[in-house]
This record gives sequence, structure tokens and C-alpha cells, in this order.
Amino acid sequence: MVGIRDLRLVGIIRLKVPINFCKNLKIPPKIRNFLWRATLGVLPTCIQLQKCHVPVNVDCPLCNAHAKTVHHALVECEVAKDAWNRSMVDVWAEATTFSSWLLGIFGRGHEGEMEEVTVVSWAIWRAQNEFVWQKKSWPASNIVASARNMLNQYKFAQGRKGLSLSPLHDGGRNLERWIALELNKIKVNVDGALFEQEGRFGMTSVARNHHGAMVEVFKKGKIGCV
Ligand SMILES: [Zn+2]
Repeated sequence: MVGIRDLRLVGIIRLKVPINFCKNLKIPPKIRNFLWRATLGVLPTCIQLQKCHVPVNVDCPLCNAHAKTVHHALVECEVAKDAWNRSMVDVWAEATTFSSWLLGIFGRGHEGEMEEVTVVSWAIWRAQNEFVWQKKSWPASNIVASARNMLNQYKFAQGRKGLSLSPLHDGGRNLERWIALELNKIKVNVDGALFEQEGRFGMTSVARNHHGAMVEVFKKGKIGCV
């Protein structure tokens, strides 16, 4: 039996067509990699798995109405259409393959639209996989919102490259200052993190006495958005 990893290797060897049309976009490397595989047709869709003799039903598991090709999964499936209707991408295009559909949109040359089509395509694919493997349903509005959040976070992180992420150095405004441990008092440091793409958040805190010795540590992670 051919596994998904083998399938990717087979596809990469068979199709040596470099897709460079998104090389100038400011998008995360994982999106670039996803598009490369999608446009080469080597995403592990039902059709592609069956071609490699993996025993699967070729029908799209979401709508059960069409064979699941890359074009169907990312453009024609009702789940995909709902997401595109909520995006800023003008998806009308005469195309029968995902790569020609994407090139049609890129041909218009609008940077914002090009960025959005790449991240929303990726988010649609992720939502479909999570439905299949985890029975998790993504509302179309959340698919688009999570795609935009991911892109914004990536751009923000790129913009801060080389800068401290600490609020102590936030634009030189010195929002917080270090305070020495006080006699007979407990000092608690708290930090938190948001994982908007994954819909979860967490926090950790450390309590120390005036000697600096650790008194208590606890952490908490929750599913949801803040
Ligand atoms: Zn479908």
C-alpha cells in the first residue's frame, strides 16, 4: 500500500514543474509549500490517493456529490464556495484546474487579492482535513478570519524581526520596568500566549519569595478565543 508520504514523493518526482508565481508575495513558507503542491496536483486528495492505489472512496467527503480533485476541494466544493463568498477574492474564472484558476486570479495583479487567495486556499484545505480526520466543522466565516489572522500575524512577526518582543522595549515607551523582589512579599510573573489559528490560548505564572526561590508554578491552556 502507498502511504501519503510515498504519494508526495511520487508526485514530486513525476512533476518537475517549478511554480514561482507567488515568489514575491509576503506569505508564510508553509503556504508557499502548500500552493506548490496544490498547483502540481500532489495534494493527497481522494482522486490522487486512488491513483496511487490507496483504497479510498473518490467522492468528496464533505458534499458527497463530486469526486475530490484539488480543484473541487479548493474551488468548487460548497464549503470552499462559502469561504470564497466571504473573502475579498473575485473567484469568477473559466478554469478546470486549480493552477489555471489561481493563475487567472494572479493575472489581475492585485497584491492584496493574491495574498488572500493563497491563505484562504490553505485554510479551506485545513478545514476540510480537520472535518475528515477530527470531525471538526469550520464555519466559512471562521475559515476566512483564521486565514487573515494567520497572514497578519506572519506580517507582524516579519516586521518585528530583529526587534525585542518584550513590552519593556515597545517603541521605547517603557511600558513596564523591572522591580526588585521585596522583603516578605511574593512576586508573581505572568505570561500568556494566543494561538488564534488553532483557536486556543494559554498562560503560565511563577511565584517567588523575596529570596528569589520558587514558591509555586502553574500553567493553563484553554480552547477558545480571547
Ligand atoms: Zn465537495
